[in-house]
Amino acid sequence: MKVGIIGLPQTGKKTLFQILTGNEITDPAKAFKPVPGTADILDSRFDRLVEMYAPKKEVRARLDLVLLPKMEAETISKGDIFKDISDMDAVCHVVRAFEDEAVYHAEGSVDALRDFDMVNSELVMHDQIFVEKRIERLSAMVKKIKDEDQKKELVLMEKMLAHLEQELPLRLLELSEDEEKLIRSYPFITLKKLVVAVNVAEHDLGNTGILEVFKGSCDALAIEAMLVSAKVEAEIAMLDSAEEKQAFLEDLGITSTALESLTALCLKSLDLISFFTVGKDEVRQWLVRKASKAPTAAGVIHSDLERGFIRAEVFKYDELMELGSEAELKKNGKFYVEGKDYVVQDGDILNIRFSV
Ligand code: GDP
Repeated sequence: MKVGIIGLPQTGKKTLFQILTGNEITDPAKAFKPVPGTADILDSRFDRLVEMYAPKKEVRARLDLVLLPKMEAETISKGDIFKDISDMDAVCHVVRAFEDEAVYHAEGSVDALRDFDMVNSELVMHDQIFVEKRIERLSAMVKKIKDEDQKKELVLMEKMLAHLEQELPLRLLELSEDEEKLIRSYPFITLKKLVVAVNVAEHDLGNTGILEVFKGSCDALAIEAMLVSAKVEAEIAMLDSAEEKQAFLEDLGITSTALESLTALCLKSLDLISFFTVGKDEVRQWLVRKASKAPTAAGVIHSDLERGFIRAEVFKYDELMELGSEAELKKNGKFYVEGKDYVVQDGDILNIRFSV
């Protein structure tokens, strides 16, 4: 499961990607191809569990990110960028809202909403062109051979075209399971979940007005948006100690870095939730598809645990924090034993019982 980072040139994509993944990109040739990386999931729940259990080993969950080439006339006209995006499971669009005379802007001025709309239009246009071509081919084929599946697909494509012509992304179109199956192998981009990171100037980090500007569009288009300052994140990443980082955040009047919210939004866009395993040896965060049952989560840890699954012993992160210890959870009836039909919830702490 991977999230592709997209955006116009000079919006802060590379800066954010570098901070999130720790990869430094120095080779200019890389600007023209997708660059893969992995980001630690920053989750304060994990940090608190590590504090509580003081384990020998701690393992964060990780998220695959891909820095995609900038969207500009050349990549758009060749279409490579769309091919790259269609290979992703979700997309994070970085929009520039910071002013800086030293950093040129491809459109000549900073206007975050205009750029956001422009990129969205390009994505819708890509899907529209694909649908139009498909309609052309299917219409010709349906005339020659009376294939029921092709007829069905043609009806669906016409429905999709009418939707795209209203400048709406396909993720807003309701599709039946059969319809979804028909288009599963097609490279539609606007079906994918989208997260927007609005890269603001440092003094605008708490400026909810900027987010408000996006809210209307984002709500209407089923997009999640957040503010981030790539410059601030880069400065924080340079600091060595947790105390220094804390003091820096306090100076800015904010409580946490944006990276935690950004990775959380990316996970949400992939329909992933977190669960934890804890103990003196290891505290670890794991990711699993939302609505997964306990044996599937067990399988994320190891296939043997899924195969030999007997039961899951579960407690909840929030309840652990409230009551302070596993012993208190047990005393208060907050230690649950669940079977194979249990649907794992975000923040569950699991201990899988299994037979070999
Ligand atoms: P990309 O082209 O979208 O990958 O953008 P980069 O991450 O390479 O950033 C382009 C330029 O903008 C670089 O010179 C960055 O240092 C600068 N930049 C990125 N984010 C910020 C920011 O939040 N504030 C300011 N002032 N400059 C930034």
